[in-house]
Amino acid sequence: MSNATELIHSIPTDPLTGAISVPIYQTSTFVQEAPGVNKGYDYARTGNPTRFALETLIAKLECGHTGAAFSSGLAAIDAVLKLLKSGDEIVAVDDIYGGAFRLFTHVYEKFGIRVNYVDATDPINIFNALTPATRLIWIETPTNPTLKISDIKTIAAIAKAQSCWLCVDNTFASPALQKPILLGADIVVHSATKYLGGHSDLIAGLVVTKEKELGEKIKFIQNASGAILSAFDSWLVIRGIETLPLRIEKHCSNAQAVATFLQEHPAVDKVYYPGLSTHPNHDIAKKQASGFGGIVSFSLKEDTEDTAIAFVTATQYFKLAESLGGIKSLLCHPATMTHKSIPAEKRKSAGVANSLVRLSVGLEDAGDLIKDIEQAFEKINYKIFLLKNQI
Ligand SMILES: *Cc1c(COP(=O)(O)O)cnc(C)c1O
Repeated sequence: MSNATELIHSIPTDPLTGAISVPIYQTSTFVQEAPGVNKGYDYARTGNPTRFALETLIAKLECGHTGAAFSSGLAAIDAVLKLLKSGDEIVAVDDIYGGAFRLFTHVYEKFGIRVNYVDATDPINIFNALTPATRLIWIETPTNPTLKISDIKTIAAIAKAQSCWLCVDNTFASPALQKPILLGADIVVHSATKYLGGHSDLIAGLVVTKEKELGEKIKFIQNASGAILSAFDSWLVIRGIETLPLRIEKHCSNAQAVATFLQEHPAVDKVYYPGLSTHPNHDIAKKQASGFGGIVSFSLKEDTEDTAIAFVTATQYFKLAESLGGIKSLLCHPATMTHKSIPAEKRKSAGVANSLVRLSVGLEDAGDLIKDIEQAFEKINYKIFLLKNQI
């Protein structure tokens, strides 16, 4: 987003009352003067003014034509998949969000949609996986939890040459850092549960399309399938977006400080953060995004699940929980939490070590967060000592 002022003033004041905050239209239906004669709304699944304010706002932030708000990130992803038909194929990034993998493979494959998973950090892998049946290319950048970066512009050019759609899950970067549509993507999806909501207090999803025509298809699916976002949750997401640039700036600077600290720590093996010059995709991250985000992952030299579990239960400010993107710092252990259902060998080859820890760096003071990590390392040395000596 170029301008925080523009963002704040993209949120309309209420034309009816002048309310500075978008009113929550808590209603299921709208009175009509005669059949079909109304003020633009008839039934709240089809349209709700609070939801519409959010949909307009996200379309503007992502520089797209149409926005649509759903009851979860996965409901938003589901709506995009419903653009396809039996026999169509998807080429998707291999370390895709686990819930998207489950939906693609365990729900849509049985309707005759095939998914080909490839390492998208090299666009040639996507090109090589295309077939005449490919209708959709699906990437996430950065990915979860190893923060791999794919080149959106190059992949968009590949999608265009093949006449298929490119959809980017922009959850980790948010439109404050990265605008896939300006780089050529056709569709952007968000789990607004994360940075857009920003306060770990709701579940929501968004879709933005570049073109009007595709937007109409998504809106049709939204109304036909019905997984809409409620008026109250739409209001909460708007409220979250109001402070997005400010929050993201702090998430990024805190994460950079934490990643730099971890890189120097003797207990740490690898640190995964696109803002480190040692990150393999640092250059492309720098080129296509205006910052590197708030997620940092790292593995330990003592690469065991037990050591990682000792660490994630030893921090005080970093709370052990799934999810990310909120004001409070969170951490999780993918091998036994988010990535538990993936077989150990497959998990390891995807770079998710036994000891990998994912941090969602929040908005606390960076010095306090680093102290928290330091004291957790001290505590686990003690725990490992007790374990090894059977005390
Ligand atoms: C959380 C997440 C989702 C799913 O969103 P929900 O709101 O939990 O349904 C999709 N993609 C990414 C990258 C996520 O982090």
